[in-house]
Amino acid sequence: AEETMKPHIAILPGPGMGHIIPLLEFAKHLVINHNCLVSFLVIRTEASDTQTRLLESPLLPSDLHVINLPPADVLFQEDMLLLTRICVIIHENLGSIRAAIEQNRPDALVIDIFCTEAIDICDELSIPPYFFFPASTYFLSFSLYLPTLDKEVDCQFRELPGPIHAPGCNPIPYEDLIDQVKDRNSDDYKWILFHSNRLTMATGIFINSFDELEPVTIRALRDDPFYKRIGTPPIHPIGPLVREDEPLTETDAECLNWLDTQPTDSVLYISLGSGGTLTSDQMTEFAHGLEMSKQRFIWVVRKTSDASASGAYLTAGEDADEQTMFLPEGFTKRTEGIGLVIRSWAPQVSILSHPSTGGFLTHCGWNSTLESVVHGVPMIAWPLYAEQKMNAKMLSKETGIAIKPRAVEPGKGLVGRNEIERVVRMVLEGEEGQAMRKRARELKESAAKVLNNGGSSKQELSRVVDSWKCCQLKSTS
Ligand code: UDP
Repeated sequence: AEETMKPHIAILPGPGMGHIIPLLEFAKHLVINHNCLVSFLVIRTEASDTQTRLLESPLLPSDLHVINLPPADVLFQEDMLLLTRICVIIHENLGSIRAAIEQNRPDALVIDIFCTEAIDICDELSIPPYFFFPASTYFLSFSLYLPTLDKEVDCQFRELPGPIHAPGCNPIPYEDLIDQVKDRNSDDYKWILFHSNRLTMATGIFINSFDELEPVTIRALRDDPFYKRIGTPPIHPIGPLVREDEPLTETDAECLNWLDTQPTDSVLYISLGSGGTLTSDQMTEFAHGLEMSKQRFIWVVRKTSDASASGAYLTAGEDADEQTMFLPEGFTKRTEGIGLVIRSWAPQVSILSHPSTGGFLTHCGWNSTLESVVHGVPMIAWPLYAEQKMNAKMLSKETGIAIKPRAVEPGKGLVGRNEIERVVRMVLEGEEGQAMRKRARELKESAAKVLNNGGSSKQELSRVVDSWKCCQLKSTS
């Protein structure tokens, strides 16, 4: 009888490590802390070792079943942009998604933002759909507002006289918008609008966030009448859920052993997420600035790409080689002992939780952001694509735990070596760095509190799980 009481939840993440990681964490959390059964439906797009290690880990709890969906044949047109590619992959896989849901008959389906087409399957099978929003609440507010904006405004958004204002939230200057909405005639825009329109069709939306991290936006979503008017479903802040690294590879162990020998708060960890890349010019400036700062560092280097800041998105974890890294000649030699260059995938969470780590230069992907917050590490914000510029603004302006370097010419991307030297020193040695670290430590404490028994995030999720149990009772009685 106990078994039938466990709610059975299916979870459908979008492709990419930045989506699989947080939804898998959510899945583990439901199983371990809330006594649910979870079917985790995965559309595999990359065969990277890192992803395999994550999804086939012997440490996953036994009530969490990873189901690899049989991959559909997907034909891309040459000129398709990244988001369109991702959406097309999911669209072409709807058949196998449907089959898996029909076979498993879960009590609820939790879907990722790119998978909103699955709502139709839920409707047909009378299964309540929930969203797990894997980005900031600030970006959710924009996504909820976008359909209204789209109806009210005819021009391109760059022609608007001022910033964009989701009701109750901090304004978003045009430059900080996601690239996908900068050309309203593009397929990427149509997809974003399509998914944004469907947000209100869910039974509830989980956000991986908490009040102290995004006070303005979470309050707005709760209290501003606009969101009620457009039919926003209940928003459930249940974060910050971040993972712990699993047993390490040899290179991971070497890196952590090295960290053990460094002074407290002295090392800058540099990573631009699973997909982020720099141009070759930026790489050169970056390396020089870092070297000039004379600060300790761990740097995850990916191949440079002059074409796209998300150049590694679907290939994350591949090794970069010397030629494609564009490091200045002799860089590795000259920084030996002061810094480590890692060429594929770093044990990021172990690094951020290590006492020697004193700062994180990050692309502000939402998972990286939360991992830094949970471990109390101040940030240098280096946003690249997706909603990262909005996150960077929120972290520097709303939360005060990040600083953003200035580009050589405003509006143009390149950040010079002197500026890089300045911000690196500032975070690790300067007074501003101290202040940011203090603020980051306070947030770390609030993050721990909300997840404890009696904390707001823990309670919020418990209430939803209880509602699933209730439905189950009704349907069995
Ligand atoms: N990550 C890691 N090692 C790396 C690069 C990334 O463990 O070398 C993890 C990181 O801890 C985070 C995720 O990959 O959990 C990246 O997600 P995020 O939302 O920060 O960025 P995205 O990759 O989606 O741009």
